[in-house]
Amino acid sequence: MSVQIKPRILLTKTLPLAAQKRIESFDKIELIHWKDGVIPRGELLNLVKGVDGLLCMITDEIDEEVIETAGNQLKVVSTMSVGYDHVSTAALKSRSIPLGYTPGVLTDAVADLAVLLVLAAARRLREGISAVLNGDWITWSPTWLLGSQLTDKTIGIVGFGRIGLGTAKRLKPFLGSNGKIVYAGRTVKKEAEEVDAKKVEFDVLIKEADVVIISCSLTEETRGMFNYEVFKKMKRSVILVNIARGSMINQPDLVHALSENRLGAVALDVTTPEPLSPNDELLKFKNVTVIPHLGSATLETRTAMANIAIDNLLAGIKGEKLPYQVEFN
Ligand code: NAP
Repeated sequence: MSVQIKPRILLTKTLPLAAQKRIESFDKIELIHWKDGVIPRGELLNLVKGVDGLLCMITDEIDEEVIETAGNQLKVVSTMSVGYDHVSTAALKSRSIPLGYTPGVLTDAVADLAVLLVLAAARRLREGISAVLNGDWITWSPTWLLGSQLTDKTIGIVGFGRIGLGTAKRLKPFLGSNGKIVYAGRTVKKEAEEVDAKKVEFDVLIKEADVVIISCSLTEETRGMFNYEVFKKMKRSVILVNIARGSMINQPDLVHALSENRLGAVALDVTTPEPLSPNDELLKFKNVTVIPHLGSATLETRTAMANIAIDNLLAGIKGEKLPYQVEFN
């Protein structure tokens, strides 16, 4: 009697409960599960050897070395994220290994969070909460902790993809009849008509926008796109929000611009590095709000992402087209 060899899968973190139970219920795969935080590089290189499928996270650097170490039997890499800047598409493409990702299901959660950050920055939420906690709330005052409101303002969205559009739709009602939305990107987006948004050059956007939201994919072209020269051109009252990737912003330049009072308020879901040290210079500015990469962090969204990542993985193991497969250029 021949023994059927089960495909081996490496899962680099624990999934939300329902999805974790689902992946553990498959008796036709051998699951190698890293349970303790971020898998150290050495363990990743050790455990990936001989696997047929890899279910990874944005915290895993899946580069040429990892793919090469995995071996020729590797059939699929499935990341539980829409961004895939942590995966070497060149290494996968050259071996014809498909890459699965999770577009769409996280759009609502991330767009909700973008709105939260815009309002938090505009209304000085961090300072307000600190005042309550520190006993600095002495009295109501007509002049204390005055923020700015969105009525009649110009919102500039850099990267008008799924999340950019979702954020624009949510912010539109805040703007009143004289507010407007502009976006910068590589292509004109038909769907921008839904929110009356106009495409403008990046240089125009950063000069004219009262609120700049970064919702662009991280590529070699967009890495460090927001640097000191760009900050210098922005309005001094600008609210800058980043929900894309930390590396979109040149962070030392951001600190420089903040130290010269060049920016109104900044709210970041993503930073360089992650986690950001509590002693990081950026956190010393009271007009900077940082949250720990919570964009897609709802139970519903993370469960949906994990299930898509599993579906992509299973399809790849069988040699089928993945339900959500990255198109390599
Ligand atoms: P998407 O629909 O692919 O949108 C990405 C957009 O980036 C596209 O519209 C693209 O414009 C634009 N872009 C690419 N290069 C550009 C450039 N040089 N200048 C301006 N725009 C450029 O992806 P999505 O689902 O909206 O996600 C966007 C990003 O958000 C992801 O890549 C990920 O990094 C990040 N994200 C963060 C979180 C979080 O937890 N904070 C969660 C999910 C996603 P064109 O179409 O014109 O090329």
